[in-house]
Amino acid sequence: MPVRRFVSMATDTEVSRIKETRREATEVTQALGRWHLGVRVGCNQAGEQGCQETGHREVPISKIDPTNGRATFYYHNLTSPLPPPEDPDFTHAHASNITQKMPFTDQEWEEVSQEVPTTGEPFIQQYIEGRERLIAQEATQRSDASFRQSLSPLARRACAILEDELAKESENITVHPGMMFSLSKDRMEQTKLWQIVRRMPKGSLLHAHIDAMVDFKFLLDVLMKEPGMHISADMPLTSPRALENATLLFRFFKTARTKDSLYSKDYAPGTFIRITQAADAFPDGGREGFLKWVHSRCTLSRTDAVAQHHGVDEIWTKFYKCFRVVNSFLHHENIYRQFLRRLMHLLKDDGIMYAELRFAWGLDYYQQGSETPDTDYVHMMDVLDEECITTKITHPHLIAGYDLVGQEDGGRPLRDLLPELFWFRKQCAEEGVNIPFFFHAGECLGSGSETDHNLYDAVLLGTRRIGHGFSLYKHPLLIDLVKEKRILIESCPISNEVLRLCGSVMSHPLPALLARGVPCCLCNDDPAMLGQDTAGCTHDFWQALQGWENLGLAGLGSLAENSIRWSAFEDQTADKWTRDVKEASVGSGLKAKRLQEWAVDWEKFCLWVVDEFGTDEDANGAVPAPTAVAQ
Ligand SMILES: [Zn+2]
Repeated sequence: MPVRRFVSMATDTEVSRIKETRREATEVTQALGRWHLGVRVGCNQAGEQGCQETGHREVPISKIDPTNGRATFYYHNLTSPLPPPEDPDFTHAHASNITQKMPFTDQEWEEVSQEVPTTGEPFIQQYIEGRERLIAQEATQRSDASFRQSLSPLARRACAILEDELAKESENITVHPGMMFSLSKDRMEQTKLWQIVRRMPKGSLLHAHIDAMVDFKFLLDVLMKEPGMHISADMPLTSPRALENATLLFRFFKTARTKDSLYSKDYAPGTFIRITQAADAFPDGGREGFLKWVHSRCTLSRTDAVAQHHGVDEIWTKFYKCFRVVNSFLHHENIYRQFLRRLMHLLKDDGIMYAELRFAWGLDYYQQGSETPDTDYVHMMDVLDEECITTKITHPHLIAGYDLVGQEDGGRPLRDLLPELFWFRKQCAEEGVNIPFFFHAGECLGSGSETDHNLYDAVLLGTRRIGHGFSLYKHPLLIDLVKEKRILIESCPISNEVLRLCGSVMSHPLPALLARGVPCCLCNDDPAMLGQDTAGCTHDFWQALQGWENLGLAGLGSLAENSIRWSAFEDQTADKWTRDVKEASVGSGLKAKRLQEWAVDWEKFCLWVVDEFGTDEDANGAVPAPTAVAQ
């Protein structure tokens, strides 16, 4: 029962009336909890233009504090809280336009409530039973329904224990549900839930970009220890603006270059200087300050992550800058080797057994013999195709598929690239290699925009998985096709939040896709740059677990199992791929074997959860059914 109440400025004689109204309004607000109470204060001359005499404008002034349901009132200049009703300074108001009656008095309610049925009444019970059946029936359409139904008794106990932990977490609140990731990261790592999720066997990491995978604290340490590394900038680093925007390059030279200083106004842009010298001379804190600054040039900051209102394009501009800096030093052999070792170590520690990592070539592309970069990527695309096919011939086990990366809204849609993509497919056929598509698509906010329509092309071109598929939930026909063709959605919830497609994990569309029966898995996209600060996937799993109530441990298990089921472990024709995905663990190939291995790890993990966190009470009780399972 929303109550609308309008208060406008009036004469001194009506002051007592407004005081009374405000007292009532406060009481109503308290009684209604979070319900909306519209209150306006303004001069009676006020309108769009405002009152000439007082300058007051009519504006909404109530603010409901969701934690206690109380309203805060503002008046006049809207900068100071409305004084309490007793305040003698409040002299220009009256109340009017009370559009609805006040709620029942206690006495009235006492009488009326005699006629209200109890929940024990048979017809209400019948209603509740029907309601439960409806919920269960809908749950059968979920993509994780069969996984939930086939859970072992042990796994069900582990799921129930985790439900308890989730409930305790919401009582003690370490992390507010839906809290922005960059604000909640440190808190979530302190929870018991974190220990559980961290240990979970997560299967394959199917969507991550290799140049954004390892914590930069480690990488910068390696960079500083690497002999012969030099740094240059395209402008003197003499101002905060220059430090934030300069294009940085890192290169190896046998002979140390020590002349010039990056921080002098006389610095000749592009001059390389030994990195240790540049670090020690850093004006704001020497080497320590230098490392902090380079780190800030490789990652999105907390400020970037929470400034959702600045929009998608702006964050992508910063994001691209990070890749340019990182790509400049990452691909030096010794650094690269140490990076890869660390990466494998971090993934294994996080319960990830396989990873399919996307590799992209640098954005500044120089043709052979040219000292200036190309103005377009036509030649780079040709070379990319040639190199990719060649690499597949020389290193068949390293190339699983083909994708196009970058900000979808900022680039050309797949439709524009059809000639090149068909040519690529023909070249592959002629060379006798099989490089399937695993396209990014629908990583955008558009509804019917060209980039939103990339989803149609990805499906029509036979992609085996879709990276992100964030806007898929707007396409009912495509949802049916994705299910029919058994295409997996590689969802990256933290990436989508930090890159401003949604403000919180709770407004992410993945639950809608899961409910519609679309197969999905969880991935982390660019964890070193987006704030996870590691290569593992636990943060994304944790956020999904807390943010989507009907997921639970069983839902997470299903997402992890899917990641194995849709992994490209070996070269397969489209038919064999589809057959293996369909047969899953009952098949006879490598995929079935890996799924069986994962199932063993899952049971071991569930046993650990029960041993570690189970109680006698939970062991003696009935085995609870997992969340949202149709019984
Ligand atoms: Zn991606």
